[in-house]
Amino acid sequence: MSEYRVGHGFDVHRLVEGRPLVLAGVTVPWDRGLLGHSDADCATHALCDAILGAAAAGDMGEHFPSSDPRWRDAPSLGFLEAAVRLAAERHFRVENADLTLIAEAPRLAPWTGRMRDRISEALGVAPERVSIKTKSSDGLGATGRGEGIAAWATVLLRRQEQA
Ligand code: MG
Repeated sequence: MSEYRVGHGFDVHRLVEGRPLVLAGVTVPWDRGLLGHSDADCATHALCDAILGAAAAGDMGEHFPSSDPRWRDAPSLGFLEAAVRLAAERHFRVENADLTLIAEAPRLAPWTGRMRDRISEALGVAPERVSIKTKSSDGLGATGRGEGIAAWATVLLRRQEQA
C-alpha cells in the first residue's frame, strides 16, 4: 500500500536592476534580477513550498527565515535539497513536479531544459519527472507589466514502505 500526498506552492519576487536573474537554479542573462534575501529564485521557492506543503512540514518562511543572515544571497537549490530531506525524514519521496513560471520578459523557454536538469538533480529524480512551463501574463497585472516574476508549483510525494 502506498500513500500519495499532493502539495502546491506559489512565489513572486520583484525585478530590480543590479541583481542576477536566477530561476530554477539557472542564471538567465537579463538586465534585471529578482530582489530577495536569498538569490530570490521564485521558481525554486514555489517548489520548496509545494514539497513542504505535501509533507505538511510547514513553509519556507518557517524553515529558512529571511531574518537569518545565513540565507543572504544563498542559492535556493540548497533550500530545495533541504525540503527533500525534510520530506525524506517523514518517509516521503518526490514522484513528480510541475512548475509554471510567469514572466513577461525575458523569454524563458530556451532555458527550461537546463532548469529541468538543475531541479531534477536537486530533487533526486529523473528529469522525466520534472516539468517546467513558461507563460506570460498577457500584459495583465504586475507580472504583465514586467514588475516581477511569479511561479506556481505542484508536487506529488509518495510515502516509502518502511522495512
Ligand atoms: Mg521567495
